[in-house]
Amino acid sequence: MMNSLVDGGVRTLGDQSVGALGYGCWRLVNMSPEAAQARLECALDAGMNLIDTADVYGLDWGGSAFGEAEALMGDVLAQAPGLRDRMFLATKGGIVPGTPYDSEHLEAACDASLSRLGVEYVDLYQIHRPDLLAHPERTARVLERLLSSGKVRHVGVSNYSPTQTAALMAHLPGKIVSQQSEFSATHLKPLFDGVCDQCMQFKQLFLAWSPLGGGRLATERGSELAAVLDELALREQVERAIVCLAFILAHPARPVALVGSIDLSRIEMAARAKQVVLTRADVYRIIEASMGESLP
Ligand code: NAP
Repeated sequence: MMNSLVDGGVRTLGDQSVGALGYGCWRLVNMSPEAAQARLECALDAGMNLIDTADVYGLDWGGSAFGEAEALMGDVLAQAPGLRDRMFLATKGGIVPGTPYDSEHLEAACDASLSRLGVEYVDLYQIHRPDLLAHPERTARVLERLLSSGKVRHVGVSNYSPTQTAALMAHLPGKIVSQQSEFSATHLKPLFDGVCDQCMQFKQLFLAWSPLGGGRLATERGSELAAVLDELALREQVERAIVCLAFILAHPARPVALVGSIDLSRIEMAARAKQVVLTRADVYRIIEASMGESLP
């Protein structure tokens, strides 16, 4: 029996728990509320109770406007209110098209998100990208007000460097509960830039965005990485995309991989990643193939 590093167990966040896979709503735009509901129910049924969206989703990737993904989720929750209780609902704010970032007006952004979603609070509110011109102390006060208002249960950051997170944490001790960064077999940066280490140091939940490299990992041909992933997929009797999700779940930071598919069968199948066996040697093979060199 091979010793698997893949950890499909629930992750805890304060008094709440979330599945090892979450569902991302970046691409959940440009469809009817019925179609969106079917995808959200499929994700929830497959154990993805962390639902990740953002105010800016809709502005690109097939959408037509800022707020579109949240508004669509609001329509779903209006027609199926029971779904809210099954979700650990996470959204993000702070990207202001044309500015481009503003972390000092997150209260207004959060109010607008709550209104589009039609909910009284979200479980996690994340700063989508660091505002290079905001002093972390001022940002911390804004987040503090959001927490004390009850509009958000937890706060986190996204696309922050470890030093940016540390600067914010210094003004808000113990309150930054999550970090979200791009992480996949083709994007290993968090392994080396300190994000994974910082999450483990401070017991922060690490949310991995674009776990399939935006889809590229599922379709890429001819690379050493694709060959290694295909060999493991054959051994594990799953699709290559499932091995890519399992790779995320094998890291000791216990990340949550954010599934981004809007295809019902792929959403359902993603749960299979939790059962994939990846040994330490398998995971290092993926890392070395991705880097294109052997580790020393
Ligand atoms: P992803 O899983 O890397 O990519 C999803 C894309 O891959 C979809 O277009 C999907 O197409 C395609 N795909 C999946 N399986 C496939 C297969 N077997 N063959 C071919 N194509 C396949 O994830 P993502 O959508 O880029 O990101 C996931 C979530 O991360 C987002 O929804 C969002 O919540 C979050 N995110 C956050 C940030 C940030 O700045 N914080 C940035 C980007 C994303 P189908 O729909 O047709 O399956």
